[in-house]
Amino acid sequence: PFDVLVVGGGPAGASAAIYSARKGIRTGIVAERFGGQIMDTLGIENFIGTKYTEGPKLAASLEEHVKEYDVDVMNLQRAKSLEKKDFIEIELENGAVLKSKTVILSTGARWRNVGVPGENEFKNKGVAYCPHCDGPLFEGKDIAVIGGGNSGVEAAIDLAGIVKHVTVLEFGSQLRADSVLQDRLYSLPNVTVIKNAQTKEITGTDKVNGITYLDRETEEEHHVELQGVFIQIGLVPNTSWLGETIKRTRMGEIVVDSHGATNIPGVFAAGDCTNSPYKQIIISMGSGANAALGAFDYLIRN
Ligand code: FAD
Repeated sequence: PFDVLVVGGGPAGASAAIYSARKGIRTGIVAERFGGQIMDTLGIENFIGTKYTEGPKLAASLEEHVKEYDVDVMNLQRAKSLEKKDFIEIELENGAVLKSKTVILSTGARWRNVGVPGENEFKNKGVAYCPHCDGPLFEGKDIAVIGGGNSGVEAAIDLAGIVKHVTVLEFGSQLRADSVLQDRLYSLPNVTVIKNAQTKEITGTDKVNGITYLDRETEEEHHVELQGVFIQIGLVPNTSWLGETIKRTRMGEIVVDSHGATNIPGVFAAGDCTNSPYKQIIISMGSGANAALGAFDYLIRN
């Protein structure tokens, strides 16, 4: 069996694997797609200490760093269940069962898509998901935020300080964000809120030039010219494969303590799949290191 088995090969998993292997313990990492979300990221400007890099380049250097150590890397393998017996057992989709004394779950999350024409086509060309990451790229421009929940309204408030104008499109008849956030949003001069708005299409040529939405009350279609669209309709953690054993929030995020430990002894978690409030590369890497040290601490005590 492994001492530490990491499930997930994004920034959190890579960090957890390196920290574990550096303790000289038997470490393995299983990943459906090594690199994780950063494989879909173009420019990265907030990975501290590196002024600019690109996702696939960072993913390649994560893999190279992991392979510096004696880590059993199992790429293109998907975990389908976790069971605690004498060891913690991870069953893979291919039928293999991996046993380990501790497991670090780092299966990340994915942004929910609106699924309209233009969304995929203009990803990284005006369609964005992360205001902390891509907000500064839209300085002085007109943008829209799709989604009037807490994350959409927070994003709109944040972006209004950087861009020229923000249009918030909410599908329902009311914003769903907390009222303090709504008050703040409505106090801003450069924000327009449109309710009952069903996004139909993100338009553009080589990059985004507008958005078309249906007013669900009047059934009329409208087009707004703008240069960017932030989609904020939810971040879904990749945790449904875990079943009921591991304690999760209503949103499906794995609940961890300050050592990265879950409710199951020996099972730790890190990164975007957890209830960490902010989801960023640097935060995921930090929590991966934290969970690895937590797992090591557990191993020397048990
Ligand atoms: P992930 O990166 O999601 O990695 C999860 C890993 O788990 C992957 O290897 C995946 O294949 C694997 N996995 C999932 N399910 C299973 C399973 N059942 N079995 C086995 N493996 C599984 N953050 C920044 O800090 N700066 C940026 O500029 C930035 N830009 C972004 C742009 C885009 C388009 C996106 C989508 C995100 C961006 N982020 C950015 C956020 C950042 O990418 C994430 O916070 C970070 O990747 C989270 O790392 P993670 O390791 O927790 O999860």
